[in-house]
Amino acid sequence: MNGLEELALSRHVHDRVAGQRVDEAWLAERWADPDTRVLQVWDGRVPVAADNATFLRFVSPERAGPGERVLLGVEGGTTYFAVLLENEPEEAELAGIRDIAVGLGDRDAGLLVHAIGVANWHRSHRYCSRCGGVLESAAGGHVRRCGSCGRTHFPRTDPAVIMLVTDGDERCLLGHNTRFPPDTRRFSTLAGFVEPGESLEHAVARELMEEAGISVMDVRYFSSQPWPLPASLMVGFFATATTTEITVDGEEISEARWFTRAELLDCAQRGEIVLPGHISIARRLIESWYGGPLPGSW
Ligand SMILES: [Zn+2]
Repeated sequence: MNGLEELALSRHVHDRVAGQRVDEAWLAERWADPDTRVLQVWDGRVPVAADNATFLRFVSPERAGPGERVLLGVEGGTTYFAVLLENEPEEAELAGIRDIAVGLGDRDAGLLVHAIGVANWHRSHRYCSRCGGVLESAAGGHVRRCGSCGRTHFPRTDPAVIMLVTDGDERCLLGHNTRFPPDTRRFSTLAGFVEPGESLEHAVARELMEEAGISVMDVRYFSSQPWPLPASLMVGFFATATTTEITVDGEEISEARWFTRAELLDCAQRGEIVLPGHISIARRLIESWYGGPLPGSW
């Protein structure tokens, strides 16, 4: 099971038509077409229909408002852009990825994640990292070019590993992160960012040793999910523990426990622990190992 179908943010229907991004005539022609659909983005959020958050609210180019344009792609003969608004839109209900992604259809989910990811990158990369010059958008919004030294900057994605560890007694390891609200019983898989010069497998092993004092072998890829909040790609793994004594670091993980499947179900039913939301790859890792749906979520 790769879980791809059920991962809310990994759905992707539109053709990104990357080759068209530098075709200025084509971009202008598509923008001039009143049937082209534009997704307005403001502060990491997008408009939704006020009475129904299962559809994104697109507008025509004419009504899009001022802001940088991003070519998202083509789907079903329709061209989709995002516009990164300079002003907060009026008379619009706004929602973010966490609010609406699970309820959206595949097309809208893919367009939303693409648009928010690019928008976050534009917002946090205003100046050239080489010379400090002002960057300007190019290539349909997928490049930023320095007006002073000419250097091109490409969108960045920060990979993070997230892993469900099991031991020889068919137990899985879950932890309570210090960033979780302290009065909650949230438990989830461990995770961490990949460091420079490190493979994904090594990052899995290092994070588990650092956060829980657990050694692992047999690191196996599960699936991945973009998490543009603001710029991550969550890469999911299973791993097998070669040690079982837990020593939490106290900085990122304040408590970690082994759960059998029966204990996990019992604790989740009684609310002794609360499992991650259905939008997350953590939830998919846990339920894939467990073998079915579990109760409760944050
Ligand atoms: Zn520069």
